Formats: sequence, structure tokens, C-alpha cells
Amino acid sequence: MSRERYYARMVDILGILESARVINAAGTVTRYGASPMDPRVVSAMATAAGWSVDMAALQARASEIIAAATGAEAGIVTSGAMAGLLVGAAACMTGLDPVKMAKLPDASAMRNQFIVSRSHRNSYDHGVRAAGAELVDVGLPDRITGCGVRDTEAWEYESAIGERTAGILYLARADSRPDLGEVVRVAQAARIPVLVDAAAELPPAGNLRRFIDQGADLVAFSGGKSIGGPSASGILCGRRALIGSALLQQLDLDFVYEDWDPPAELIDKQALRGVPRHGIARSCKVGKEQIAGLLTALQLFCAQGDAGRNLRFARIVDALLAAAADLPGLSVQRVDDAAHGGMPLLELRTLPSRMSASRISLSARELAARLRNGRPSIHVDGTRADAGLLVLAPTCLTADDVPLIADALRAASARGNEL
Ligand SMILES: *Cc1c(COP(=O)(O)O)cnc(C)c1O
Repeated sequence: MSRERYYARMVDILGILESARVINAAGTVTRYGASPMDPRVVSAMATAAGWSVDMAALQARASEIIAAATGAEAGIVTSGAMAGLLVGAAACMTGLDPVKMAKLPDASAMRNQFIVSRSHRNSYDHGVRAAGAELVDVGLPDRITGCGVRDTEAWEYESAIGERTAGILYLARADSRPDLGEVVRVAQAARIPVLVDAAAELPPAGNLRRFIDQGADLVAFSGGKSIGGPSASGILCGRRALIGSALLQQLDLDFVYEDWDPPAELIDKQALRGVPRHGIARSCKVGKEQIAGLLTALQLFCAQGDAGRNLRFARIVDALLAAAADLPGLSVQRVDDAAHGGMPLLELRTLPSRMSASRISLSARELAARLRNGRPSIHVDGTRADAGLLVLAPTCLTADDVPLIADALRAASARGNEL
């Protein structure tokens, strides 16, 4: 074989993809590649991939579309919700000062504390800390630990505000306490911004506007979850000045001042004493493909609406329900998730042997492991496996997956736990 021929051979990418392919009934989780994309999203990404574009101008147009969808003054595409937290926290700390921007993550010479309820602490707040912020925990989640009825209260946020406070970090979940509105009141009285992590709060589609309506200054959404955009995409929306600062710290800004022509609707060049150096979020850069894909997905998400989406998901869940209804040792039911716009889910419980006609004893954890270790590998939501419950989410499934999952469930439930 000639050298040319040897190096011209393409690696078999489809073969590589197949070797890692799984059926994802765990929901729109990043570890299994987030949500599958609509062909129209893929097509927009393909077009963008073949073009050269002015990235700042593209983000300025993205801002208009995001503003229209969220009701915010402005918005940018980030490389994910966690990147949105990073660049959003950076914006709250530096404002439009390029000197401060250049110092991050050393934030010792600026306001860098974010107040957060202990019940809102989670693995993704690493994004805020990565910008150089320090989290100041307040309150006690007695309601969640079962030690009492209360959670953090507004006065506890208030008591922690001081000279070094840069903002408040708020995790939006259907059952988050205290209400965002109460936290916003405290923040506004102290003139500090509220940064909301709403990564996984879609659907309902109404949540695109809800946190902005309640007075949040910045809101981060994931693009790769239910919006159906690329896995490495997200939205940060909110106040124009903060979004401008966030964009400055994410864009490639290798310009001399005189030649630099940033989009005036987001960035006030006159207010800057110089062109900022590459910022803290240059490491979370966003490609033109992510922007084109996210914007297409966002428009499809808004156009489809919760009812249309739920109808599509219900077909998959009902087919799974029918296929798994009479399997020995299992009980299955459909539930409509009220916290997420009534999205249908399949709940699957393994029955104790005394309650099961088959007398088979199989733990939910073992069942999940068998599904995972089968071929194809099937992943379910095992968060509550210790309570005997597995949840199958339809968000990343197609009708083609249903018979494969049904076969795997039948095979996996036919024998009990290994001793
Ligand atoms: C998924 C998630 C994130 C991260 O979202 P990405 O878009 O993957 O960066 C952040 N916060 C919460 C609460 C999440 O559920």
C-alpha cells in the first residue's frame, strides 16, 4: 500500500459511534449525550459549519431571539447552563471593568461573594466558584433533612449581605424555597443581582419567562436538555449590561481598540477603557454551530408547546406501559410529571417476592444493572432505586426503542437476584 493510500483512509466514525451507542431512558442527561436533535437543528448547524461569521454580530442577533423568547432585555448562547453560571458570576463581579476581567479567577480585590441557601448548594455551583466567586451558605434545609418544617428564609439572605457581596445564587426547582420573588425583594433593596440556575426547569415552556418576570437579573438554561439543542449549548439571559459583560468575557477579542467594532446593542465601547483580554469564559467558547443549533431548537421548542410535546412522549410511554404491563415481578404505571408541564414518565417498581405471582425476588438496582449491561445497553433513571423504583423518561427515546426496551425488560426480569 502507498503512503498516500495509508493516510487517506478514514477512520470508521460510525463504527466508533456504534461501539458507544446506548438507549437513553434516563432523561436528557449529559453523560449519554443529552437530547437527540431534530433534523432541522442539525441542518442549521451544518449550514453554519460551512460558513465564516462574525461571532459578536451572531451573538447580538441571538440576543434578540432569546430576548423575545424569555422577556429578558438581552441574552447570549453559552456552552451550557454551567458555563452560563460561570460567565454570569464573572459579569456580576467585574461589571464592565477590563482590569477586573483580566484578574479573574483572582477576585480578591472585588466584590466576589454569592449568597446561597444551603438547600440550593449542588454540584453545578462549581461553575460560579470557577469564576473566582466565593459561596456564602445561609439557612438550614430542615424541611429536606426531615429535621423540621422550614428551609432558608429571606431574612437569612438579608443578614449575610455585606461589603463583599456580589450577588445571590438561586437554584430554581419546582419546590425551591424561599420563593424567588422574596429573594429578589431582598436583593433589590441591597442593589445586588440575583443569578438563577434554571438549567433543567424546561418544560413547562412558561418557565422561559417566569424567573425573569419574577425579577431575576440573570437566568441560565441548558440548551442540551429539553430545548433539544446541542449538548454543549445553553442560554444566559437577563439585564443588558450584565449580558454585555458576560459576552465580553466569553468572546475572542483579539483586536486593537481602533479596529474593534462590537455590537452596540450589547456592548457600549465608550464605557470600556480598553479591549478586554481573553476572559475567564474564553475556555467555554461557543461555536457558530452551537449558536445556529440552539436558536433553531429554541424556536421549535416554543412552537411545539407543552401539549404537543407531551402527546409525542405519551405515545412512547403508553407503548412501553403496554409492553411491560404483565411482566412477572414488576409493576408499571404512567405518571404525568406536574413539575415539568405534565410530561409523561413510566414508573417501574420491582415487587417483593411475597407480593409477586412469580415469587422472583429482584431488586430495582439489580434490574437497572442488567438493563445497563445488556446489548444494547439501556440506561434508566435509578435515583430512587433504593426505594424499589426506576423511572423511564421518554425525552431521548423514539418509537424504535420501545420493542428493544420491552425485550430487555422481559429477559432481565425472568430471574431473581444472584445470591
Ligand atoms: C444540568 C444542570 C446544569 C448543567 O447544565 P449544562 O447545560 O449541562 O451545563 C446546571 N444546573 C442544574 C441544576 C442542572 O440540572
